[in-house]
Amino acid sequence: MRTRTPGLVLLSALLLAACGAERDAGPVHPPVAAAGAAEQSGHGAAVAPTAAVHAAPAVHAAPAHGAAGSDALSTDDIFTLLMAGNVRWRGGLAEHPHQDATGAMVANGQSPRVAVLTCADSRVPPEVIFDAGLGDLFVIRVAGNVVTPEVLASIEYAVEHLGTRAILVLGHERCGAVKAALAGGEAPGHLPALLDRIKPAVAEATALGGDRETNAIAANARIAADLIRDAKPILKGAIATGKVAVRAAVYDLDTGAVSLVTRK
Ligand SMILES: [Zn+2]
Repeated sequence: MRTRTPGLVLLSALLLAACGAERDAGPVHPPVAAAGAAEQSGHGAAVAPTAAVHAAPAVHAAPAHGAAGSDALSTDDIFTLLMAGNVRWRGGLAEHPHQDATGAMVANGQSPRVAVLTCADSRVPPEVIFDAGLGDLFVIRVAGNVVTPEVLASIEYAVEHLGTRAILVLGHERCGAVKAALAGGEAPGHLPALLDRIKPAVAEATALGGDRETNAIAANARIAADLIRDAKPILKGAIATGKVAVRAAVYDLDTGAVSLVTRK
């Protein structure tokens, strides 16, 4: 593990807050590029290498196993560190932290600060796009990043037993599950059960107008975040204390950027 002065590390990461600009409900807009860099297509060329990006650490594990109360970072700080990892990655500055093949760092326990609920789509691997490693992210993946009782139980476990404090629902551009829900009609096998969970997002997108697919993808992430926030008693209670926060975001397959779409 590299050693850095915590204050400088956090300051550097906070300087990158603009890279994860939060937006109101509605169509997904192009992401905000890192300071001094013009957004371009493709990974690696869009973000200028800055000292701040280099200095921002991975959203590493909490200092004590499962001890959220001892974590000095605010949930805003944790989300900022997470988004800084995305900026590093798409800027070609990934540090690939915590990827010791022996697993020695986490073999005896885990305390990931962040849980990510995202799609099973092979193009959306959270540890890659957030430049994270072993023990950093508690990842739950299911087509359409929908919320089921099993998903809620997994997040509850992370919050209750691992000290996880930030929960991100990450939808993505051109999601096949959302496209299928938008298409409607008969679906084979077990798909109807999955698509039923996306129907509220289709309804929200239709009401918004504009690009239905873009809006449905963002709405689907926001609705999942709402369901997590309202899950009694564990998650709703933890969020009410301020120690845990939930946000929704969308991943842009063209640029690699993650943009927050949390409902205000
Ligand atoms: Zn998908």
